[in-house]
Amino acid sequence: MSRIKRVHCGDVNCHLVQGEQGAILVDTGRAGYGEKLLPLCRQWDVRLIVLTHGHLDHVQNAAFLSQQLEVPIAMHRADLELLEDNDRQPMQAHRRLGRLIQSLSRRGFQDTLLPPFQPDLYLEDGDDLSHFGVNAQVVALPGHTAGSIGLKTEDGALLVGDAMFRLFSPAPALVYADRRQMEDSVAKIWALHPTALYFGHGRPAQGL
Ligand SMILES: [Zn+2]
Ligand SMILES: [Zn+2]
Repeated sequence: MSRIKRVHCGDVNCHLVQGEQGAILVDTGRAGYGEKLLPLCRQWDVRLIVLTHGHLDHVQNAAFLSQQLEVPIAMHRADLELLEDNDRQPMQAHRRLGRLIQSLSRRGFQDTLLPPFQPDLYLEDGDDLSHFGVNAQVVALPGHTAGSIGLKTEDGALLVGDAMFRLFSPAPALVYADRRQMEDSVAKIWALHPTALYFGHGRPAQGL
């Protein structure tokens, strides 16, 4: 069994996934939330930081937490360019709500700088993370960004980052670098028959 704890970091969710021997932190939130996450990460014995994608609101405390906890940072290689500049993968928006989200997040991107870091590990679809004490697998979910990934736990819960989000019910990403890929990734998520979904934004959907 894996236990999953959602940690609110402003408008972004970070998640602690506990395994038999330690835990993984999934995403690190916007600047200013490192101090909130650090004691929780210590308490849960975090051994790895996984970034679901390279958007600023998910990665800003990665360098701080990695340094403090002395644990590696892992992400997909295709989002490496976003660590230099989030605009390297221009986003398109779906309908009016998507355009609103896009304009809000763009404002956020301009206001904040990314502390520089390099990931220590690159993750691919199917990678097994049990080496870090948690029985979970990487699921590639490109579309929102080219390097978007999720994690599937041994009990079938899926952490999807921004590949989907939840406002009322689980919905496909409203902003994306590639719509076709995003739609394929949403189909892939449902085909995995998740027992629960955890999103980068919004409340989890449990008991699916
Ligand atoms: Zn995002
Ligand atoms: Zn996000």
